Amino acid sequence: MPIVNRIADLHDEVTAWRRDLHAHPELMYDVHRTAAAVADKLKGFGCDEVATGLGRTGVVAVIRGRRGSGKTIGLRADMDALPIEEATGLPYKSTVPGKMHACGHDGHTAMLLGAARYLAETRNFAGTAVLIFQPAEEGGAGAKAMLDDGMFERFGVAEVYGMHNYPGMPVGQFGIRSGPMMAAADGLTIDIEGVGAHAARPHLGIDPVLVAAQIINAIQSVVSRNVDPLKSAVVSITMVKASNTDNVIPQTVQLRGTARSLEAGVRDLIEERLHKVVENTAAAYGAKATLTYRRGYPVLVNHEAQTDFAASVAREIAGEANVDTALPPMMGAEDFAFMLNARPGAFIWVGNGDSAGLHHPKYNFNDEVIPVGTSYWVRLVETALAG
Ligand SMILES: [Zn+2]
Ligand SMILES: [Zn+2]
Repeated sequence: MPIVNRIADLHDEVTAWRRDLHAHPELMYDVHRTAAAVADKLKGFGCDEVATGLGRTGVVAVIRGRRGSGKTIGLRADMDALPIEEATGLPYKSTVPGKMHACGHDGHTAMLLGAARYLAETRNFAGTAVLIFQPAEEGGAGAKAMLDDGMFERFGVAEVYGMHNYPGMPVGQFGIRSGPMMAAADGLTIDIEGVGAHAARPHLGIDPVLVAAQIINAIQSVVSRNVDPLKSAVVSITMVKASNTDNVIPQTVQLRGTARSLEAGVRDLIEERLHKVVENTAAAYGAKATLTYRRGYPVLVNHEAQTDFAASVAREIAGEANVDTALPPMMGAEDFAFMLNARPGAFIWVGNGDSAGLHHPKYNFNDEVIPVGTSYWVRLVETALAG
């Protein structure tokens, strides 16, 4: 595998950074120690500019090539951990109770730092590399917060690339696809108001539990009867909160759940149909139901030209046979989607080997991925900005 030589030399050092980050996980926007360590290193490498505080705690480094002017491309890593108690027993396991790097963002941050070190040292490209370290990927929309702070305009980013490790895919392999790759993830809360009554005298009330049951069934018609069968969508009701005893019909019931989709049009359709089905089903029984539809991360859509380019760089690193360009989309969500809605670009999976799954208490980022992912980043820049 043609790993860039200098990057192979940096493997031990980047591994040490990764393990230090792993031992000190931070959540959401509170990535102060991590962001400070990242900014310190970037300054030490001699980056042309290091900006902090974008999207509250995000960090951006600018590295200009020595071969003249050219376009500006963004590379993005995420820095936040998860509220999980680590169960790996590793010597460098989390030192913070209840917090853990269970999604490999420690590895993503370390690999992009490794790339920064190499790029600042060699600068063998024409144009500008903008390295983006974001907070709050895990549910806090940190990518959006950095965009809302004008990041792309401020640094003139024309294209943007992201990378995430993929447990179960062998180390040294990549996966990518053009078009929708990860789902939009939205939250549902349905509040049903009936009229409470004695359970033996239901005719004197309006039973919101019965209404809830009808709604739970009826909304499955949205995916099965409204969404094109050749498209993907999921609606799941995961929580039912009703009376807390045998003999009381409650006044209210609350349902909660999630809706996932792989296209903006399908997402709009689900939201619109859920409102109609929920409100009108309740009305048919004389009850009132309100749906609160909370839009989370949008669909992550890879742009075709940038996906083809990213795949060609991955093939150079990993070899033809080790880049899967037809990986099926996943119904999980990823806030890099916001960046791809703002600029053309591509998100790629890099194999993490036979590890526990993402968000599992025994998950660990595989340090053998470091030269693979770091080589991908630097060759991406040197190829995109060949001049
Ligand atoms: Zn995650
Ligand atoms: Zn992640």
